[in-house]
Amino acid sequence: MNETMKALVYYEPGKYGLTDVPVPVILKPTDVLAKVTLAAICTSDIHQVRGEVEGIPYPRIQGHEFCAEVVEAGAEVKNLKVGDRCMVLPGTFCGQCDMCRAGRFLFCRDGGIFGGFSLEGCHAEYIRIPQADQTMFPIPEGLTEEDVIMLPDMLATGWFGITNGGFTEGGTIAVIGVGPVGQCTCLLAKKAFGARQVIAVDTLQYRLDIAKEAGIADVLINPAQDKAVKKLMEATNGQGVDLVVETAGIKATFDLAVRAARYNGTISTVAVPAAPFEVNMPDIVFRNLTIKAGIQNGSGIRKMMKLIMTGKIDTRFMLTHRAPLNDIEKGYDVFGHQKDHCLKWLITPYER
Ligand SMILES: [Zn+2]
Ligand SMILES: [Zn+2]
Repeated sequence: MNETMKALVYYEPGKYGLTDVPVPVILKPTDVLAKVTLAAICTSDIHQVRGEVEGIPYPRIQGHEFCAEVVEAGAEVKNLKVGDRCMVLPGTFCGQCDMCRAGRFLFCRDGGIFGGFSLEGCHAEYIRIPQADQTMFPIPEGLTEEDVIMLPDMLATGWFGITNGGFTEGGTIAVIGVGPVGQCTCLLAKKAFGARQVIAVDTLQYRLDIAKEAGIADVLINPAQDKAVKKLMEATNGQGVDLVVETAGIKATFDLAVRAARYNGTISTVAVPAAPFEVNMPDIVFRNLTIKAGIQNGSGIRKMMKLIMTGKIDTRFMLTHRAPLNDIEKGYDVFGHQKDHCLKWLITPYER
C-alpha cells in the first residue's frame, strides 16, 4: 500500500483543500484501518472549515458520514474481518479516558466525532477507526453503501428529533428546514411513526419539491413566498402542530417553530447552532410549550436498518450529487452554498 493518500484537510478557518497526507496506521488493538468506500458531506463539515465551530484543532481531515471496508483489523477486534463492507457511526468513544469519565464524550482522547475534536475524518482514502467492534456495522446482504449512507447520522438525527419530542402515532408534525436531516425527519414521521400530517417548511423551493416528489410531506410552506404562520394555521384548523422539529438553529426558524406548535405542543431542535440567539420566552411560557434539544445518540439505528432492508424507508431520493474524492473541493462549494439544487453530495473513492 502507498504511504500517502489523498484527504480533504482543514488548515485554518476558511482554508481547506485536497492534499497528500500519510496513510493512517493502527494505534490500538481495538482499531481497524479501513478504506473509505463512500462518504457524504455534512453541513457541520462546512461550518468547521469556515471556522464556525470553536475549538476544532487543525490541520484536521474532515468528514464523519461514511461507509468503509476493513483493510486491517487490530488484534483485539472480534466481530470484523478484512474485506468486511461496513456502515460506520459518525463517532466513537473509549469510555475510559479522563474526558469520557468526565462525561465529555465528544472530546474523548481515543474517540469523539470523526473529523472533530480528537479524530481524523473520512474525507480521505483511508481512516483509522477506534473501538471498531462498536463503531462499524457490516452492511447486510443485498444492500449497498448508498442504501445506508444516510442512516448513522441523518436518519439517526431525524429519529432523535421525533422521539426526543415525544411524538405519538397519529400526531401532526411540522419540520422546519428540510435539508437532509429535515427530509429524513419527514420520511420517518410518515413511514415509521404514523404521522397523520407532515408539514415541510423551507425557504429553498427545490427542497420542498423533493419532499413532495418523495411523498413524505402533506403540506409545503415556503416562508419566502407564503405567510408561513397563516398557511400553517389554515392547514391545522387554527391549532398548530403537536410537534415541531427544528433543524436550522437560527432565530428565524426557532421563532417560527414557537408559533407553529399548538398549545401544550413540543419543539424538538436537532440543529447545532453556530451562535447564540434570543428565544421568544413569553410565547413559550403562555402557550405551555415544551422545548427539547440535543445531539443524536445513535438510538433507532438497528430498527431503521430493518426498515431499509424491508423497503419501508428509502433515502436514495436525497442523494442528488456524487463524484470521486478528486472533486471534493467542488463538493464543499456546491453543497456548502446550496448550488445546483444539491441536497446531498456523495464522495466515491479517489480515481488515479
Ligand atoms: Zn453529519
Ligand atoms: Zn475516551
